[in-house]
Amino acid sequence: MGAGPAALCIVAELVEQGLEVTALASHVPDKPWPNTYGIWAEELESLGLASLLGHRWTNTVSYFGDGLGEEGSAPIDHYFDYGLFDPVALQKSLLIRCGDLSWCVETAEEIRVLGARTEVVCSSGNSYLARVVIDASGHRSRFIKRPDHGPVAEQAAYGVVGRFSSPPVEQSQFVLMDFRPDHLAAGELKEPPSFLYAMDFGDGVFFVEETSLACAPALPLGTLKKRLHARLVHRGVEIEEIIHEEHCLFPMNLPLPHRNQPLLAFGGAASMVHPASGYMVGALLRRAPALAKQLANALIIDPPLDSAALAKKGWQVLWTPELVQRHRLYQFGLRRLMSFDEGRLRRFFATFFRLPREDWSGFLANTLPLPRLIIVMLKLFSISPWQIRLGMLFGVSASKD
Ligand SMILES: Cc1cc2nc3c(=O)[nH]c(=O)nc-3n(C[C@H](O)[C@H](O)[C@H](O)COP(=O)(O)OP(=O)(O)OC[C@H]3O[C@@H](n4cnc5c(N)ncnc54)[C@H](O)[C@@H]3O)c2cc1C
Repeated sequence: MGAGPAALCIVAELVEQGLEVTALASHVPDKPWPNTYGIWAEELESLGLASLLGHRWTNTVSYFGDGLGEEGSAPIDHYFDYGLFDPVALQKSLLIRCGDLSWCVETAEEIRVLGARTEVVCSSGNSYLARVVIDASGHRSRFIKRPDHGPVAEQAAYGVVGRFSSPPVEQSQFVLMDFRPDHLAAGELKEPPSFLYAMDFGDGVFFVEETSLACAPALPLGTLKKRLHARLVHRGVEIEEIIHEEHCLFPMNLPLPHRNQPLLAFGGAASMVHPASGYMVGALLRRAPALAKQLANALIIDPPLDSAALAKKGWQVLWTPELVQRHRLYQFGLRRLMSFDEGRLRRFFATFFRLPREDWSGFLANTLPLPRLIIVMLKLFSISPWQIRLGMLFGVSASKD
């Protein structure tokens, strides 16, 4: 169910396993996706898919200073290529792998587990039977059950692709995070922080986006828009033409789904967004093959497994005990970061990017095995200033400046 990146990734793998798949989504599968997805280039290279990048930057930097003077305005170089998928190429490459599968353009309304089969009832009145159903309908799936851990932190961002009176970032540059706060009034510094994510698209076109990493409740888009304009004005930059506006809102720390439910999920519905970075597409490409293989093996077991048993087999590989532990560590880290004020957050990230590149990039991609992840987190703790260490241990209320 679904036709976003998660659905297409898992359908492609299921088809390649030779399984009989019925794909069902509210719209045709080649309808352009509303988002453009970013990823560190090496993540895609390791999957042999670097050709799917529409843009790639070698000059990748962040700013974690206070914006004052030369030192406070100096960028940190990441020395690591970043890219944006060509969304049409990514979608097309996955659809080609889905073969001649026909898609049912339907909206699922209800899902009934009947034992050996699961029935998906659609708003058209049509219903479909499957041995197991995979919900890839996104972060706001109504069908997947998960525990209630209180308010869910959301990443929010307001962005503009456009032309500007002068370049908002250097030519050929990608800015992962510009946290410089010198355009903010004293009162605004006490509000939840946000940063600029920006890039040069070439031909005089740039993308600038004011982003709140995670906040519960989410930072309103109006606030982010105001902050983006204030930031640009402070740098003497005016927007001359808006080509596209991006409004972004998605959950960062959605609790993991119950793994004993008779329905499987993949992607946003399965809480696969990285809770510390908000990225997911690399994880979809890496984790889909194991899930598809597991289902292919489970479907031929004799006597046949019912829907609940098949779903259980799927959950076992999708959220292995190791991945669950890693996810918990990331969620813990995110809770701590959300308690940091802007000064502490800047110092935290300045320290984080002093880690060896394979450590910080592996942390952000969620590719470090659990023992290594723990070592990296301890290393981060050991190189952090005391104020950050206290914040990491106790949150900010116990360690005020
Ligand atoms: C603006 C934005 C920018 C992002 N940028 C990045 C990024 O740069 N890099 C990154 O890795 N991640 C990014 N993410 C996070 C994440 O990768 C995306 O949210 C991603 O689109 C989630 O994929 P998905 O396939 O799980 O869900 P979606 O993309 O939301 O797709 C859900 C699909 O299910 C269908 N559907 C929904 N309900 C039903 C139903 N009842 N019946 C049938 N079909 C249904 C929808 O029509 C849609 O096709 C971003 C998210 C947003 C919102």
